[in-house]
Amino acid sequence: MSRRALILYAHPEPRSFCAALRDVACAALAEAGYAVGVSDLYAQRFKAVLEPEDYGVLSAQQAAGEAAPFNVTLAQRRAVKEGSLAPDIARELEKLLACDLLVLVFPLWWFGMPAILKGWFDRVLLSGTVYGRSALFENGKLRGKKALVATTTGGPAEFYGAHSLNGDLLDILMPLHRGVLAFTGMTVLPPYVATHVPYAGEAARTRMLEEFAAHLRRLDELTPLPMPRVADHLHQMGHLLKAKAE
Ligand code: FAD
Repeated sequence: MSRRALILYAHPEPRSFCAALRDVACAALAEAGYAVGVSDLYAQRFKAVLEPEDYGVLSAQQAAGEAAPFNVTLAQRRAVKEGSLAPDIARELEKLLACDLLVLVFPLWWFGMPAILKGWFDRVLLSGTVYGRSALFENGKLRGKKALVATTTGGPAEFYGAHSLNGDLLDILMPLHRGVLAFTGMTVLPPYVATHVPYAGEAARTRMLEEFAAHLRRLDELTPLPMPRVADHLHQMGHLLKAKAE
C-alpha cells in the first residue's frame, strides 16, 4: 500500500510563492510514491476559532447557563465518543490519522504560522485522540508519522541565525516543531525555509523551488531534529505516570 502525505497549505493568495512550494511538494511526493492530499485552508474557508459548537456543546445552552462550563479537553473526548465532532474537524482528523507524512506550507507571519493554521491545530488535535496524560512525545498517539515544515520569510537569510537580528530559525519554529509536532509523537524532519522571498528576484525564487524539490527527494535520508523524550523526564512526571496513559 502506498504511503500517504497530507499537505496543509495556508496562504490567502492562490498565486503565492507558498502555492508554488505546495505544488513542488505535490509533484515530488507523488514521484516518491506517496498518495498526496492537500488541505487548502483558505480555499476551504477553514474556521480558525475553537468554539463549544465544534464539540457538540450548543451556544444556546451555554448562554442559558444550562450546560456545564465548557472544558475543551473533556468536550473533545466526549464529542469523539458521541460522534458529535463538527464535520470539518472530523474530515481533517481523518486525513491526519490516515497520513504517514504531514507537510506544512505557510508564510512566516509574526515569527509564527498564520492564524488559520494555528486554528487547525487548536481544533483538530484532539485530547484523547492525538495526545493525553503521558501519551506525549515518543508516546504520543501520532508516533510513526513524519512531519516537515516548509515556510517562507520576508527577512533575508542574514537576519536569521543564532546571533542575528531575528534569531535562529529553529528557535523560532520551536513552538511548532516541539510543542505541536513532536509533542503529539511525530518525527520532525529538518524544515525547508525560503528566505527574502518577495525581494529575492525571479531567478533566486526558481532556485529555491529546486532546492525544496531536492530537500523532498532526500526525505528518507534526512536526520530528524533532536526532540525531548518522556523517558528522560520521568522524575518530573510521577503524578501523570501513576494514572494509566490514555
Ligand atoms: P508572495 O508574496 O506570494 O510571492 C513573492 C513573489 O514570488 C511574488 O512576486 C510572486 O509573484 C512570486 N512567485 C509566485 N510564484 C512563483 C514561482 N512559481 N516562481 C517564482 N516566483 C514566484 N517575514 C519575516 O521574515 N518574519 C516575520 O515574522 C514576518 N511576519 C509577517 C507577518 C505578516 C502578517 C505578513 C503579511 C508578512 C510577514 N512577513 C514576515 C513577510 C512574509 O513572511 C513574506 O512576505 C512571505 O513569507 C513571502 O511568501 P509568500 O508566499 O507570501 O510570497
